[in-house]
Amino acid sequence: MSDCIFCKIANKEIPSNLVYETENIVAFNDINPQAPVHILVIPKKHIESLNELYDKDLAGELLESVKEICKKLNITDYRTVINTGKEAGQEVFHIHLHIISGRPLKWPPG
Ligand code: AMP
Ligand code: ZN
Repeated sequence: MSDCIFCKIANKEIPSNLVYETENIVAFNDINPQAPVHILVIPKKHIESLNELYDKDLAGELLESVKEICKKLNITDYRTVINTGKEAGQEVFHIHLHIISGRPLKWPPG
């Protein structure tokens, strides 16, 4: 999608701090980190949210990429979050999975 910031990151039209890339996925550091480690994992393909994710292969790739990213960066303990919808905190409507780590994390989240 032409006006989607995460499509632009995936297409390298705007810079980001990439930490991982495959044919279908990229991961990059969040611009406003909520913990010492805060990475966003996205499919290169524009999908608005979890509610529009019908591609089982891509869903599997997205989830499996998490352990690859964490292995690569020596992250053992982490939280994964997918915000879906405005009320749940979704601000960017290109599906993304947060990997948050590097400090003790409280539960339940706010
Ligand atoms: P969410 O609230 O789940 O939609 O998460 C959107 C996340 O994208 C937030 O944590 C933002 O800090 C992050 N973000 C927005 N723009 C950028 C950008 N250009 N590069 C990296 N992260 C971004
Ligand atoms: Zn997009």
